[in-house]
Amino acid sequence: MIPSEAHKEALWRLYAARTEREEDVFKRTFHRCLLKQRDEVINNVMQQPRNVAETLFDYKQAIKDFKKGFRPVIQHTVIEGAKQAIGLVELLKQFGPEMLNQQALAWISSKSLTLAKGINRTTKRELQASLAEGFKIGESIPKLTKRVEKVYSQRYSRHAKTLARTETIRASNYGALQGYKEGGLEQAEFYAADDERTCEDCMAYHGKYYKLDEAEGLIPVHPNCRCTYLPIIPSELERELPTEPEGPSGAEWQKTLTETEQGAMRGWGSSHYSDFRTYQRTGIADPRIKKYAKAFDKALTKDGRYKGEVWRGINNIDAKTFNAIKNSKTLTWDATTSATTRENIAASFARGKPTDPHRIIFKIKTKSGVDYRVFSIKEEEIILHKGSQYRVTGQKTRVFIDRSKNKFDALEMFLEEI
Ligand SMILES: [Zn+2]
Repeated sequence: MIPSEAHKEALWRLYAARTEREEDVFKRTFHRCLLKQRDEVINNVMQQPRNVAETLFDYKQAIKDFKKGFRPVIQHTVIEGAKQAIGLVELLKQFGPEMLNQQALAWISSKSLTLAKGINRTTKRELQASLAEGFKIGESIPKLTKRVEKVYSQRYSRHAKTLARTETIRASNYGALQGYKEGGLEQAEFYAADDERTCEDCMAYHGKYYKLDEAEGLIPVHPNCRCTYLPIIPSELERELPTEPEGPSGAEWQKTLTETEQGAMRGWGSSHYSDFRTYQRTGIADPRIKKYAKAFDKALTKDGRYKGEVWRGINNIDAKTFNAIKNSKTLTWDATTSATTRENIAASFARGKPTDPHRIIFKIKTKSGVDYRVFSIKEEEIILHKGSQYRVTGQKTRVFIDRSKNKFDALEMFLEEI
């Protein structure tokens, strides 16, 4: 299953927003390490100006300190990258530091070390060059101190942003690939950043599929690169992604409704769900509710069709009802019925109590559903008409995972609207 272009774009934005926050943390860490080292160098200039070109700062210690500073930041970014990846494949389990394997820990450690070495090597070279110049013209200690300050402020102003971005993106995508592996995926799609779709290097990869192991190390393609990997979901996980609606949108349908009808539609989502259903079955309702129950039925005769796959979960059914449903060849809703475009939402409705012996989750191909999502973003609800009929095309018991990540068995029944 390939997500739509709009979906991919939205995924990229999530990733960009998250990594920008992580870049800031990276920059602050870099800044803190630099300032501490600058003070050490200034101190040495004042204490022993003659020897300072050799001393500068404790190089070995500096590498240790920088590594110690970067390591947790990189690890955090790897974990966040993995978490987002796992969220996308909906494996629905937490990814914490304990899930980083030896290989990942070694990767984090070696990236932190390489980074710490590279930064300190450059700083040392720049300090030596600047101080040598100062010594040559016989500068005073305050002037030499100024040189040190300048080297450090430029180290930050010229390099912090690129360094933070490049390393954050590297760590985040490494984490994403670990997350996809953990989620059972085999491949990922290279997705170029929207601000970089003009970059020939990145566009050469855009849209290509990579085996997870081959994907490693490709991103960042260049400094400041913000490309990423999107999941390629194998077919058994396909159902986790919402089906694209067909026909007039729910928003268009909503515009055709009167005030009362809109009130009735909202009532369905809040407190009048069972009142409306009771009215449909018996014709009985409190007079005030009756007005809305009628408006509700009227609103559903207007357009706003949803064609596609939806889910409905039920629990708290007695053995007799359960068996009757299980043995049905066709099913008809005796009142307006709720379904959702998300399997895990239906699973939440089906879960009930842990002791509940009978749960059913219907996977329904609907032709006449009404797109209620405009009123119910959270539940991604699709309304199924009273009297709509479905052919039972199969069934099996399997494990479902609900929105709170609970796992349980339920009978899955496949329905197709007739
Ligand atoms: Zn790029």
